[in-house]
Amino acid sequence: MPASPGDLEMREPAARFKPRRRFGQNFLVNEGAIDTLIAAFKPAPADLVLEIGPGRGALTRRLLGRVARLTAVEVDRDLIAFLSEALPRDQAGLPAPRLIEADVLRLDLRSVLVEMGATRAHPARVIANLPYNIATAVILRLLEERDLIRDLLVMVQREVAARIMARPGSASYGGLSVLTQAIARTSSVLRLRPGSFRPKPKVDSEAIRLLPHQPGSSVTTDDPSALSLLVRLAFAHRRKTLLNNLRHLPTSSDGSSQAALGLERAGQLILQAGLDPGCRPEDVAVEGYLALLGAWKMPQESVGKMP
Ligand code: SAM
Repeated sequence: MPASPGDLEMREPAARFKPRRRFGQNFLVNEGAIDTLIAAFKPAPADLVLEIGPGRGALTRRLLGRVARLTAVEVDRDLIAFLSEALPRDQAGLPAPRLIEADVLRLDLRSVLVEMGATRAHPARVIANLPYNIATAVILRLLEERDLIRDLLVMVQREVAARIMARPGSASYGGLSVLTQAIARTSSVLRLRPGSFRPKPKVDSEAIRLLPHQPGSSVTTDDPSALSLLVRLAFAHRRKTLLNNLRHLPTSSDGSSQAALGLERAGQLILQAGLDPGCRPEDVAVEGYLALLGAWKMPQESVGKMP
């Protein structure tokens, strides 16, 4: 049986934890919202689940005994100590969750996933109510390991969720939208007001799901670092044209040359990708940026030979 919702709170000496702002600690306290998140996550007995930032265990305790493996990475050593005491060691004969005290951004995530038993055939699943100050970095880091991750359910600041899911032409559409959507399908799960957390954050939150594209999908990239540089420069000045932004792109996509493309070569590249050099960066769809990436990565000598 999973631990009952009130179990951990009952055992928690409330005064022991002063939430640490530097760790982005806004703990979920809305039991209905926790139920909705877990129902949307749909834990299954064979699942290998990685939780980032378990905090006081709001989500962790609902997963206990319901998945094959649960590993949680938490940077706050006091919370690790609390969870190791408070979480039941054995649930329905399944192993206790593995708690790793670490900064997720400095951790060898791939090794953790492999140790959990994740493979391409049986990828892990990720759930997290992320600290808002590092949410984007954590999502992008997790997506680097997408071959070992089936899906992610993450709670982020609502404005970040909007940027991740934005469509071309909208004010929120930018480099983060292109990067994430080139790697994963995104959708909204639940929006929450500050009152669902303690302490209350200053902003609204939104849980989103990210489903990495299958290899070979038409809207995917196998070179996120080159795409990252491309979109950073493409959106450097939103009011400028794509051409004016991309003339600053290095001639080589692999970092072997820092020399800028210049107007003429950037224009060729944009036409080659089937785009209009005079358009604005926010009007180009993800597919357009992938076509640009393909053109940029093409060896120089073959460019002039394009029809
Ligand atoms: N999952 C809990 C919940 O929903 O109530 C806590 C969520 S709280 C927004 C974020 C959690 O991430 C905190 O427990 C915090 O200590 C942890 N955290 C912050 N930075 C971290 C990092 N770099 N690596 C791992 N955990 C981190």
